[in-house]
Amino acid sequence: MRNCMRWGAEMQEDFRITAGTGIVIRPAKGHVAVIPRAAVCPKCGEVSIYVAEPDKLTGRKKA
Ligand SMILES: [Zn+2]
Repeated sequence: MRNCMRWGAEMQEDFRITAGTGIVIRPAKGHVAVIPRAAVCPKCGEVSIYVAEPDKLTGRKKA
């Protein structure tokens, strides 16, 4: 669950981000690439971009 940084409201997650053939996030080194997702606050429209499985990029377990 993600909360809006402005109001603390629970954000709606898993919106897709598209631009051309798609945006991916990669570490500086390595070959992994993950597709970012967006969460939107239903109260104020604040958008937060996140990755569903950050450990794939960072090598660390999700907090
Ligand atoms: Zn909000």
